[in-house]
Amino acid sequence: MKGLSILVVIALAALLCGCVSPEELPSGKINVVTTIAPQRELIKSVGKDFVNITVLVPPGAEPHTFEPTPSQMRAVADADLYIMNGAGLEFWMDRLLQVNKKMVVVDTSKGIDLVWESGGEADPHIWLSLRNAVVQLDNIYQGLVQVDPDNKDFYLKNKEEYVQKLQSLDAELNQSFSTAHRKIFVVHHPAWTYFARDYNLEQVPLMENEKEPGPKYLGEVIDLARKNNITAIFVEPEFNPKAAEVIAKEMNARIIDLDPLAENYLENMRHAGKMIAESLVS
Ligand SMILES: [Zn+2]
Repeated sequence: MKGLSILVVIALAALLCGCVSPEELPSGKINVVTTIAPQRELIKSVGKDFVNITVLVPPGAEPHTFEPTPSQMRAVADADLYIMNGAGLEFWMDRLLQVNKKMVVVDTSKGIDLVWESGGEADPHIWLSLRNAVVQLDNIYQGLVQVDPDNKDFYLKNKEEYVQKLQSLDAELNQSFSTAHRKIFVVHHPAWTYFARDYNLEQVPLMENEKEPGPKYLGEVIDLARKNNITAIFVEPEFNPKAAEVIAKEMNARIIDLDPLAENYLENMRHAGKMIAESLVS
């Protein structure tokens, strides 16, 4: 009786710690190609050592105008799985599909409630919402299972662990924004639409319809910023910060760098949340 209960305890402990021993992959690692760097952490968190990840948009490049190079097309030809951001970011996707008709293609925006811009296009910056990332992670998981069904339990456990991290940070940010006095934050490029939606904030872009602002629009933003005691302007490294510097001086605000494409996704989201929250209380 005693011996049996110890065995049961050991079995339970193995289950609880999630010691799922993954099956060996017969053909080596899964070659995954994805568009932007933040996706790497999401894919890695589910696939761990079973995936080789290639990111197409290099650091510092502008993802909205980026197009894959010929050498990247060759990497795509060897891919087992393509993880798309979706929401219109990969406007060149048809070309990629032509070089590899066998790869599994996952659109991580599937199931996300998209924000539509006035021109009828979706706002593609879906990953800058921890809640969207939970949906994206599930889509990534489904794709990995499709390529490698034998290791489904392993991927599921990994996915659930990372979902926990996303949700606990989301709860933290929700808490810090719920007590903020102000709700408006000024950004150069409007990448934080979904982030703002999650926490009932209002993102005011310096760019006017994705272009550098004209004087009339700029005047309106400066007015609004003064009325709302805006203390910071958030600027991403990919874009020309000139307009931001001009308006920052006018507003007596600080310029703070936020990178929507940072590779260390979770840490970067924590940092962004902290910086935006601080700007709303100080
Ligand atoms: Zn963008």
